Amino acid sequence: MQNLTVIGAGVLGSQIAFQAAYQGKDVLVCDVSNEILAKLPARWDYLKPLYLRDLSGATIEKLDAAAGRILTSSDLAHALKDADIVIEAVPEVLGIKRDVWAKVGAAAPEHTVFATNSSTLLPSDIADATGRPEMFLALHFSNEIWRQNIGEVMGHAGTAPQHVDAVAKFADEIGMIPVVLKKEQPGYIVNSLLIPFMTAAAKLYVRDVAAPADIDSTWRTATGSPFGPFEIHDIIGMETPYNLNSRSEDAELREFAEILKRDFIDKGRLGRAAGKGFYDYDQSAI
Ligand code: NAD
Repeated sequence: MQNLTVIGAGVLGSQIAFQAAYQGKDVLVCDVSNEILAKLPARWDYLKPLYLRDLSGATIEKLDAAAGRILTSSDLAHALKDADIVIEAVPEVLGIKRDVWAKVGAAAPEHTVFATNSSTLLPSDIADATGRPEMFLALHFSNEIWRQNIGEVMGHAGTAPQHVDAVAKFADEIGMIPVVLKKEQPGYIVNSLLIPFMTAAAKLYVRDVAAPADIDSTWRTATGSPFGPFEIHDIIGMETPYNLNSRSEDAELREFAEILKRDFIDKGRLGRAAGKGFYDYDQSAI
């Protein structure tokens, strides 16, 4: 799989495109918004210093070459014509995804394999819309994919095993560590573990059982983990936990969301990238 088409050039789509190009793939990025596509060169300029900081083998020549392997188009049929694999990273809305996949399914060459980067939807929610369900599965990345380089590969019951294998191989070729799930699981592996952990920490906070620093240090000392839950909150940023908890049926978690909004988001304490969250960070640590 040499030719990748990425549909959706937002936070994750742009990272997937750049990472694949960095590893030598030819990439075409497609978005409905010409404005978003026009901003991609600035996005590459944002990513390059992060690669130089985080990846020992990165050089400016390699990064410039990566940017040079990426073309853009807002014309879906044009964007798909040479695709060996399509990775979709459009908004996390079932209707949008099904609509996009119906169009991709109608326009893509017969050999093209389809992968969604959806965080919360299941491949079986979308597969029939593609017109080729046996070639459809999820390849799920974690934000900052060049260093948090897990690639969770998850088919649905009707995905043909050879396509699962091919996508896992592709994930490896673009520098991910692929992990193949044996069956569909909402939240894959990472979020199936992380969300209950973060939920438990939120409840300790709302019940005022201990200070966040004490909860974090207890977890680190007792388990040898590098981060406690509130340090992880700062890495993720406050917006996603706020959105998840504010929609919860659990009153304690809705209360936690209100605290996140009032004491953190509204005060600019958005997490580590903003220099402050549950903790204050000096710039050299970010
Ligand atoms: P985003 O809002 O930053 O980007 C979505 C992009 O899709 C936008 O550029 C938008 O213009 C484009 N788009 C909308 N409709 C389109 C269409 N019909 N055709 C082509 N492009 C279209 O979103 P994001 O954060 O990059 O998330 C995208 C997907 O990746 C979601 O499924 C999300 O669950 C998943 N994901 C996100 C993260 C994360 O940390 N942000 C992590 C893992 C997975």
